[in-house]
Amino acid sequence: MDFSFTEEQEMIRRMVRDFGQKELAPGYAARVKAGSVPPEMIKKIADLGLMGLNIPEQYEGQMKDAVTTGVILEELARHADDAAYLVFNNYAQANFVVLGNDDLKREWLPAMARGRKIVLMAATEAEAGSDLANLKTIARKDGDYYILNGEKNRVTFLQQGHAATVLARTDPSSRRLTPFLVPLDLPGVTRAPIADLGTESTGGGIMSLEDVRLPGKYRLGDEEGKGFYAAMRTFDCVRAFGALESLAKADVTLQETLDYARQRVQFNRPIARFQGVSFRLAEAATRIELGRWLCYRVLWLKDKGLPHSKEAAMVKWWCPKTAFDIIHECLLIHGHYGYSKDLPIEQRLRDAILPEIGDGTAEIMKSIIVREILGREYLDF
Ligand SMILES: Cc1cc2nc3c(=O)[nH]c(=O)nc-3n(C[C@H](O)[C@H](O)[C@H](O)COP(=O)(O)OP(=O)(O)OC[C@H]3O[C@@H](n4cnc5c(N)ncnc54)[C@H](O)[C@@H]3O)c2cc1C
Repeated sequence: MDFSFTEEQEMIRRMVRDFGQKELAPGYAARVKAGSVPPEMIKKIADLGLMGLNIPEQYEGQMKDAVTTGVILEELARHADDAAYLVFNNYAQANFVVLGNDDLKREWLPAMARGRKIVLMAATEAEAGSDLANLKTIARKDGDYYILNGEKNRVTFLQQGHAATVLARTDPSSRRLTPFLVPLDLPGVTRAPIADLGTESTGGGIMSLEDVRLPGKYRLGDEEGKGFYAAMRTFDCVRAFGALESLAKADVTLQETLDYARQRVQFNRPIARFQGVSFRLAEAATRIELGRWLCYRVLWLKDKGLPHSKEAAMVKWWCPKTAFDIIHECLLIHGHYGYSKDLPIEQRLRDAILPEIGDGTAEIMKSIIVREILGREYLDF
């Protein structure tokens, strides 16, 4: 066993940390207030090679293994949730776009790697969340085109995106889903914003598709009903990315809270001298350490080509909840200062809820674990 990172990974960590401290963290509150990320900021992230981590070199990407991607996302999330989202999202969407034909890949992948085009995920619908197979969006074949109708509720970063991977059904009687790359400027595509609790700079929206005429080349995957399963087969590791990001936010909050507890004096001594405070900090440090290494084990398994669905589901439910609890605890240790918007903790607390829902809730993750340890017949759906 070897728990160390390579020299290159440590170098990348330092580079991203430096960028995060200087470029990302200072403007996060302003971006949250504006509800958007300026294109210049996206370009800076892309110029560091971070938007192409899952895009082949021939399409101007900078492919990295899963552990290295985890290091990058962990560092980004320490400083700014929106930057971590953009890099995470590109990693996930590249998995779909590489299933397109050569024309499509040449048009979209370099633009994604350079941060000029942002592709979003449009799977969830009003009646299809955890039960994605229940989605209603239809893509009807019409000669060399598909005609798309449906509504995607919700899509992160919708106001700023350029295209979305839309999951649709080509055969209303089949449960098989087909992904399509849908440029958001096509006639018939409309967007409406959603006012969110947190992560406002990557705010969500509702995407409507009304008789959208999409050239057949925008179908992802060799055949109808194939692409979604092809992309998802290699997808479990993204759950560990989200989990690592959650813990990174908890860890940065814990570090701030350690400093605060050392210098905040009540009853003539630093509050860190009260076990009622220091034990909570010790527990938080323990939980971060536990979760973080299971995340890296998931990524290590992915890099070795070994199965990791069960472990990925474990970190996906446990780490976001743990991170939320730790940030909450740290906020309380800051007393009334923690409650104020002058400190970043309340924003992090709100941001920390997203990964408890997005990309699959705790109950769905536990169902995956049940399937792995007991068998599919023990699932109640
Ligand atoms: C901030 C945010 C951003 C998002 N961004 C995107 C995006 O960009 N693209 C996209 O496609 N989707 C996105 N989503 C949607 C997300 O993937 C879904 O919210 C998620 O899959 C859960 O679906 P749902 O919200 O419809 O909840 P539901 O499926 O309705 O679940 C409601 C509750 O019931 C529980 N539940 C459901 N089924 C079961 C079961 N079988 N057993 C036990 N409990 C169950 C759930 O755990 C949950 O607590 C985003 C969500 C959030 C919150």
